[in-house]
Amino acid sequence: MKNIAEVLEHVKTMGIAGHIRPDGDCVGSCMALYLYIRQWYPDIDVDVYLDHPKPVFGYIDSMENVKMQAEEKKEYDLFVTCDVSAKDRIALAGEYFDSAKKTVCIDHHVSNPGFADINHICGEISSACEVLYGVLSPEKVNRSVATAIYTGMIHDTGVFQYSSTSPETMRIAGELMKTGFNFSKIIDESFYQKTYIQNQVMGRVLAESIMVLNGKCIVGYLKRKEMDLYGVDGKDLDGIVSQLRLTAGVEVAIFLYEMESQTFKVSLRSNGKVDVSRVAVFFGGGGHTRAAGCDLQGSMYDVVNNITAQIEKQLQEQNI
Ligand code: AMP
Ligand code: MN
Ligand code: MN
Repeated sequence: MKNIAEVLEHVKTMGIAGHIRPDGDCVGSCMALYLYIRQWYPDIDVDVYLDHPKPVFGYIDSMENVKMQAEEKKEYDLFVTCDVSAKDRIALAGEYFDSAKKTVCIDHHVSNPGFADINHICGEISSACEVLYGVLSPEKVNRSVATAIYTGMIHDTGVFQYSSTSPETMRIAGELMKTGFNFSKIIDESFYQKTYIQNQVMGRVLAESIMVLNGKCIVGYLKRKEMDLYGVDGKDLDGIVSQLRLTAGVEVAIFLYEMESQTFKVSLRSNGKVDVSRVAVFFGGGGHTRAAGCDLQGSMYDVVNNITAQIEKQLQEQNI
């Protein structure tokens, strides 16, 4: 696909959806596409589905129009997923994907099998927002669309820090900036800022983290009991695994929290030598070479043991 216009011919109704537990790239890409269609294709009746996006993204235009549940039966002419790595990760609107006349997937996960009719997947690009920008007409990217795209870019590059950041990423960010949004406010408030409780929880996880595999791997964890004590859920724990990764000498950081009793959400981050997407896919998850995740059941001890065994295998393969 060269331009999104190619798939919009004869389309009267369109749905857009992201993945479960939407992050900045997911919210940004879905909203950017929604705002672009609203602005430049006013004859298309477009809906966007996002599973309870965090209030910190409230500065993106039209967040009040986001649908947080699938309602009546619908058959969209076109259904587009953004930042969704696999079909079972579509939030809320999976049934609309199935019933749509035509489906498109815009993504950047290496683990994406290509589950739509048209798959525009660029595994080497740092964010779904950057992939999306590539199929929009640059002159049509107004401030409102640019704000949403920029949001996804900073979230998935860790504010242009991760190695997936390319010269092209920076060029696009520069183009977006020209539209005149308050970028430093967006970076502070949507990416870095934490509530007092979120900081306390991060502090606790760091304090109780353990080093394994001869200091090559660090593990942070939160049990249900602790989460209830602080009154936090998964959405409050962003950034913890990235902080763990910054421990000197560490190749892989693991962070897990108990979603419900004996069910853990596992986040993995690598400093480059270990392909954590391989580890996550092995356990039924997915992601990128340096950032991946999966959901696992069992005791925390079992989960940590199973994950670290796969990491150890990769370290041994490379004599690390
Ligand atoms: P997270 O650790 O949740 O920030 O996720 C890191 C990356 O892995 C993101 O790109 C996610 O889309 C992907 N990911 C996380 N959990 C899963 C999962 N259970 N299945 C597939 N991909 C996942
Ligand atoms: Mn995402
Ligand atoms: Mn992404």
